[in-house]
Amino acid sequence: MGRNLGSSCKLCRREGMKLFLKGIRCETSKCAIERRQKSLAPGMHGWRRGRGTDYGVRLREKQKVKRYYGVGEAQFMQYFERAEKTIGNTGEVLLGLIERRLDNVVYKLNFAPSRKAARQLIAHGHIFVNGKKTDVPSFMVKIGDKITVKKNEKSKNRVKAQLESNPNFSAQGWLQLDVKEPAATIVSLPSRQDVQLAIEEQLVVEYCSR
Ligand code: SF4
Repeated sequence: MGRNLGSSCKLCRREGMKLFLKGIRCETSKCAIERRQKSLAPGMHGWRRGRGTDYGVRLREKQKVKRYYGVGEAQFMQYFERAEKTIGNTGEVLLGLIERRLDNVVYKLNFAPSRKAARQLIAHGHIFVNGKKTDVPSFMVKIGDKITVKKNEKSKNRVKAQLESNPNFSAQGWLQLDVKEPAATIVSLPSRQDVQLAIEEQLVVEYCSR
């Protein structure tokens, strides 16, 4: 009988890579991908599928981005259209835009254990941007925005408990985190290195431009 994996881990196994969909578990040896790789003999090709057709390869790269960020097809294409109109490398601009989603930012600040949990935290009104309740997970942050937690014991304790669960955590350079408050300021836009997703974004662009 196959190992009972959560649906998130199944997505990673399908794509043959870590998509970091289960928060802190993804960083541990409990990760299904890590365990699988350890169990493979050196030199084996393992369970990864072949590259497939050009179309299939490009489609899969796009699917990885969507699953990683938890974004639907229509919204993803809106990001792509915006990236196409922006000066710069379209693939990098596309990833940079999605990276600025509030749910991703809340996750990357370690206010929530996963992007899914971050979406819930936002939708339930626990997160404020520049002093205003912002319950839209797709809200796009910009430089200078201040992210705070609702001034209420329950909200603050929830976020503080998450921060305390990982005392060695440090936020990426584009996010200035004040653990005590807790609060954060967007000090710059994310770079490609800040997007910790190992994909070939050019293939995504080729798929979307077809
Ligand atoms: Fe599961 Fe996270 Fe590992 Fe993916 S990265 S297999 S979601 S634990």
